[in-house]
Amino acid sequence: MIKSDWTYHLTRLLGGVLVALLIGWWSGQLLVMMGIFLLAYLAWQLYNSLRLYRWLQSWKLDPPESFGMWAEIFDRIATLQKQNIKRNLQYQEVIDDFEGMTDAFPDATLVIDSHDLIRWFNDPAMRLLGLKTPIDQGQAVTNLIREPAFADWLAIHDELQSNLEISCPTDDNISLQINAVRFRKNQRLLILRNITDIRNLDRIRHDLVANVSHELRTPLTVLLGYLEVLKTEAGTPDPEVIERMFKQARQMHALLEDLLELSRLQQTDKQNGAVEVDVPTMLTQLAEQAKELSQDNHEINFKIEPGLNISGVQLDLKSAFQNLILNAVNYTPTQGKINVTWQETTAGPTLSVKDNGVGIPHRDIPRITERFYRVGDDRNRKTGGTGLGLAIVKHVLHSHDAKLEIRSEYGEGSEFRCIFPPKRKPQKLI
Ligand code: ADP
Repeated sequence: MIKSDWTYHLTRLLGGVLVALLIGWWSGQLLVMMGIFLLAYLAWQLYNSLRLYRWLQSWKLDPPESFGMWAEIFDRIATLQKQNIKRNLQYQEVIDDFEGMTDAFPDATLVIDSHDLIRWFNDPAMRLLGLKTPIDQGQAVTNLIREPAFADWLAIHDELQSNLEISCPTDDNISLQINAVRFRKNQRLLILRNITDIRNLDRIRHDLVANVSHELRTPLTVLLGYLEVLKTEAGTPDPEVIERMFKQARQMHALLEDLLELSRLQQTDKQNGAVEVDVPTMLTQLAEQAKELSQDNHEINFKIEPGLNISGVQLDLKSAFQNLILNAVNYTPTQGKINVTWQETTAGPTLSVKDNGVGIPHRDIPRITERFYRVGDDRNRKTGGTGLGLAIVKHVLHSHDAKLEIRSEYGEGSEFRCIFPPKRKPQKLI
């Protein structure tokens, strides 16, 4: 039994000193006996320190046999070592559980530091990105995912919601969606999800819509032609019925045209066909169209900054601007006012289409650019709209890195602003 009481050890030491003193006094060699006692005590301490050192180096669990104070020290250290081993085993178990869990994730997950160096990754990251342990630990993630868009996104990414789509570096047929979450000090968790199936389904859906629309367009054009002839032909049995049929067929035709336009936009590459677009001339043509549609029932003003061109796809931009301007005419009652402005603002080249027409209820504004979404009253039936115009606008602006801002008050009017980034302005040669 080891005593942890220090008075016990002190008493034993004093006892030893007393015995040495007595022997010294009895033999008349007091100093010699005290010297021998101190030397023996020092030797004992050195001997046990050496045993402690050797034991700690040997990693053995059982402590060396000893007695007195040293027995207690050995015993205490042995207990601490056992506790340490037990705690380490528990930590290891937690780490193993965590690794097992992250390896079971279906998504590839990586942790990168503030210099974008890889600190950790799970099994799916090894499979999907071809990463290898430990060679790729400490590598820059941009060396493994080499798409320039990824490096740009990583450099500016700061929001949880933002995500990026890229093709897999090891297999072009796999589409990946990347999300990033910041945690601790400037570390980021990258989650890469395989969305190939979703993209394939999207493609099938686009192709189906595009093919059906394409196939329906020709017979419908023929039908429209015959109805047009019947409308004007003398002796037609029921001209009112023919007129209604003609209107419906024209509406279907407009719908097919918009569907085809949307599917064309979805398929074309962002950078494809970008040229310097003469926006002032385009808007002058659209002003004519707006006046024709309005038939002098509205006050229409165009304020265009001369020479303000942007780089983009002419056809797509025209389609977007046309939709906004014709919508303003369609959704503004007669005698209403429409102002179209094209100018350079602090944010970049901006088109504003403002009217004092029927306006849009606040609850509808966030959904207004969805395909086929219409404000829940009968205004669309009168205008013959397809519900695809603003979806086209959104698409075109997105592919031109531009923003669409909508401000509207129900019953008072609306303003649609297309804001293009300054980089869209063509560089002037000096
Ligand atoms: P549509 O072909 O029906 O006009 P859009 O996608 O162009 O389809 O517009 C979606 C809906 O947004 C329209 O049905 C209309 O209710 C509303 N809208 C669009 N532009 C305006 C506007 N300038 N003023 C009021 N409502 C508008």
